[in-house]
Amino acid sequence: MTKYIFVTGGVTSSLGKGIIAASLAKLLQSRGLKVTIQKFDPYINVDPGTLNPYEHGECFVTEDGAETDLDLGHYERFLNIFTSQANNVTTGRIYQTVINQEREGAYLGKTVQVIPHITDEIKRRMLLIGDTGQYDIVITEIGGTVGDIESLPFVEAVRQLQWEMEKEDCLVIHLTLIPYLKAAKELKTKPTQHSVKLLSENGVHPDIIACRTERPLNLDIRKKIALFCNVKTEAVIEVMDANSIYEVPLKMLQEGLDVIVLKKLHINGYSAPQLGKWKDFLDKLKYPSGKVTIGLIGKYIELQDAYKSILESFVHAGAMNECKVQVVNVHSEFITEENVEEKLGGFDGLLVAPGFGIRGVEGKIIAVQYARINKLPFFGICLGMQMAAIEFARNVLNLKDAHSTEMDPGTNNPVIDLMEEQKKVTSKGGTMRLGAYPCELKPATLAHDIYGHSPISERHRHRWEFNNAYLEPFEQAGMIASGKNPGTGLVEIIELQNHPFFIGVQYHPELKSTVENPQPIFVSFIKAAKEFAEKKVSVKNPLLQSEMI
Ligand code: GLN
Repeated sequence: MTKYIFVTGGVTSSLGKGIIAASLAKLLQSRGLKVTIQKFDPYINVDPGTLNPYEHGECFVTEDGAETDLDLGHYERFLNIFTSQANNVTTGRIYQTVINQEREGAYLGKTVQVIPHITDEIKRRMLLIGDTGQYDIVITEIGGTVGDIESLPFVEAVRQLQWEMEKEDCLVIHLTLIPYLKAAKELKTKPTQHSVKLLSENGVHPDIIACRTERPLNLDIRKKIALFCNVKTEAVIEVMDANSIYEVPLKMLQEGLDVIVLKKLHINGYSAPQLGKWKDFLDKLKYPSGKVTIGLIGKYIELQDAYKSILESFVHAGAMNECKVQVVNVHSEFITEENVEEKLGGFDGLLVAPGFGIRGVEGKIIAVQYARINKLPFFGICLGMQMAAIEFARNVLNLKDAHSTEMDPGTNNPVIDLMEEQKKVTSKGGTMRLGAYPCELKPATLAHDIYGHSPISERHRHRWEFNNAYLEPFEQAGMIASGKNPGTGLVEIIELQNHPFFIGVQYHPELKSTVENPQPIFVSFIKAAKEFAEKKVSVKNPLLQSEMI
């Protein structure tokens, strides 16, 4: 019998509902329960695939090719499980389903209304994953903030489910903010009181209040919140700011969040939390023995969320190498031949990021050239791989006008071209090459060394591909295709011979890196960057130089 936990948010956005949900899920999972998380987003887009990263941060792609909210990335990274299309639902998708049914005549004679038709569809989807019987607990994060017009139908659906289910089968956690007023030297509970009141006016009564705060909550404050919000004092949970999101599960363990949840859901016979691996990871993260500096060459760098999975993959790979990874964002639009040394000279490795459209691509190409010539560890992802191919074509094969037809549809040398089946596509939503595809690795290549087996499977999100008409000259000149799709022959990985570490991948390896399973290319890239940094030191250090002779 599956039990349900709903996580709502109050007072303000960005309190970290996703991290709280993932941390609780981690604790429950560590006690031997099967847990998954889903997110319901109140916006009207059918999925976030068509949203600009500036609007919504990164678009996370699941194994089954769903373009989803970046919180699903946190769920996967914390739980080391795969999520799917069913784990992310938007208002747009709900309405689309209901309207399609209406057109098919499913509601003939009836007026289609928010209640019950929209809320019924929300409830159906809220229970969908649980209905498979695969999970003991399904945690549902409700996007947005209580009080938003858009999230009302979701809150109403939670109310109905709370009413329909047995008390011990469902609980609601409300995440709020307890601000500290410097002038008054006090933590303030009023915003939380208001937010819980608002939720109660909508008929939902929270069982647990999780309080984001910069200062510890003393017993008096906890009692006050409990009294006003009508929960037990033990159900007031302090969520203090943490140095790393990966510390939050341990903080929640100290607060006893998992124990309260298990008690309320009448779940007995669970084991003590097994968090050994997690704690090892945290130890490595906290006490690194070295440091590397990586230049992240992208164009959405003003917004950290745009490259969320890449940044988290570096955290995992850094811990694995017992090395702190400092990522420095470099805006590709402002890299020129003249300033490239000054901008990129200090790094131990370069990652050229994914992206769409022409803005900033020339800077990316210059960055690739710099890494290639200076034997600086290089890692290109998706558009980053495509730029590596273009750079090689232009500067090694001397095809000066080489380009991708995405940026220059009329180029005489389309080394990156639209896939045949993409040429017919006109609609933008969900029509890229999406989700997991197999890739066969060539023996005795960097890629094969890194993964240690073949075939591999990685997730994609792109329309353009390496143009196989150019493969022969590329390989003859030292840029080889070390990974290909076994069915179609599409090039998935390129790598440079005679370079310590130069790899470009058409897929998105960052989407599969988890705390317990760091992505192997990231791990090897950091290792290569470490080696590069050590060499740099030894060359610059006159004492070591004499030793080297
Ligand atoms: N714009 C490129 C394409 O669609 C790369 C996409 C990406 O980097 N995710 O093929």
